[in-house]
Amino acid sequence: MSEKPNHDLLPGHIEQCQICASKNLLPIIHLGHQPPCDSLLWPEQLKKSESTYPLNMVRCTDCGLAQIDYAVDPAELFFPEYPYRSGITSTLVSNLRSTGPTIMDRYGLEKNTLAIDIGSNDGTLLSGFKDAGMRVLGVEPTNIADIANENGIETKQAFFTKELAKDIAEEHGQASVVTAANMFAHVAQLGSLIQGVEVLLEEGGVFVTESHYLVDLLETVQYDSIYHEHLKYYSVGSIIKLFDYYDFTVVDVDRISNYGGSIRVYAMKGKGHTVKESVQNLLADEERMGLYDAPIYDEFVAKVQKSKLDLQKLVVDANARAESVVGIGSPGRASTLLNYCNIDPILMPTIAEQSTSLKLGLSIPGVHIPIVDEAQMFENQPDYAVMLSWHYWEPIVEKLRAKGLRSKIVLPLPEVTVLEP
Ligand SMILES: [Zn+2]
Repeated sequence: MSEKPNHDLLPGHIEQCQICASKNLLPIIHLGHQPPCDSLLWPEQLKKSESTYPLNMVRCTDCGLAQIDYAVDPAELFFPEYPYRSGITSTLVSNLRSTGPTIMDRYGLEKNTLAIDIGSNDGTLLSGFKDAGMRVLGVEPTNIADIANENGIETKQAFFTKELAKDIAEEHGQASVVTAANMFAHVAQLGSLIQGVEVLLEEGGVFVTESHYLVDLLETVQYDSIYHEHLKYYSVGSIIKLFDYYDFTVVDVDRISNYGGSIRVYAMKGKGHTVKESVQNLLADEERMGLYDAPIYDEFVAKVQKSKLDLQKLVVDANARAESVVGIGSPGRASTLLNYCNIDPILMPTIAEQSTSLKLGLSIPGVHIPIVDEAQMFENQPDYAVMLSWHYWEPIVEKLRAKGLRSKIVLPLPEVTVLEP
């Protein structure tokens, strides 16, 4: 193991690479000062001040990690009323539920051994392990832990730390698998987290992480997946560098479709385990496409800027013709997109969400566009509906059309595209 930099971030400007501590950080894109994207606002909060922080993506020329250069205090980002619930998006639910059986098959995990999910949300991922006969335990800092417990998935409401890991190991024994789906790139106390997993896992146990994949971000121009909660934008190369500092071997990698393109990385506890071909193959792909050189980033930024101007033109022109525009869906990334493109309630008065959404009645931070029941949209049939969950657009558009939506549907990215009714 090489000498380990401190992987636990303090709030504020980040001066060195989050993995290798190099000072050689080059700017990729500035998205301005933005509010934390998941800090949706209640009507009362609209009367108060609101905090914004710099949102800049940079890359390390030594280890290749793309990252943001400002850490907001996690207590502000992942507050107890955090409104995100993974059980709601049906595509995501089936992906999450199938994760458990896939891992069990691949690593021959025994029934009745322990699976732990960190950042377990409503317990959807763990329910896949449980149904396949494993013991399960979730760790989730927000009140969504209550929903998991009500659904029979035992969940501790806490931030995962090395100390908590020791308590869990004493109480429940060691785990054969620990998962961290889509929170691994979000955690500020990453060093503490990985050391905790070292404590929890039995020798040869597998730590499975999922993170949005930098290659997908660049290829499909997903600048809207850049936000303060999302500190690191991993490639296979950079995540291997990270695990090199700890008692793990990265043994396998899958590209998966979650969140518009992610990598599932399997790190086995202990050094020197056999590494599957998938790892070498993806590393070679990353080299071939020039992921560690400037041109791919210049091209990305040019596409981001064009998409911004095109979207602005579309909504401003619609407004000038007295045509109506609404948004559809309010994933965290909607905040980055709307704030970066300066789209406010004059240009987009409302955003439609399913009537079961926990976000109804809240407003997007920064631009303050209210989130309303989609029933309004079906009644008003606006001229344009901008798909803010565009990374899942196909099944959503199909459903909206089936339910009778006749609006032109606008996909804002990877380039502005209008789908006629
Ligand atoms: Zn680095």
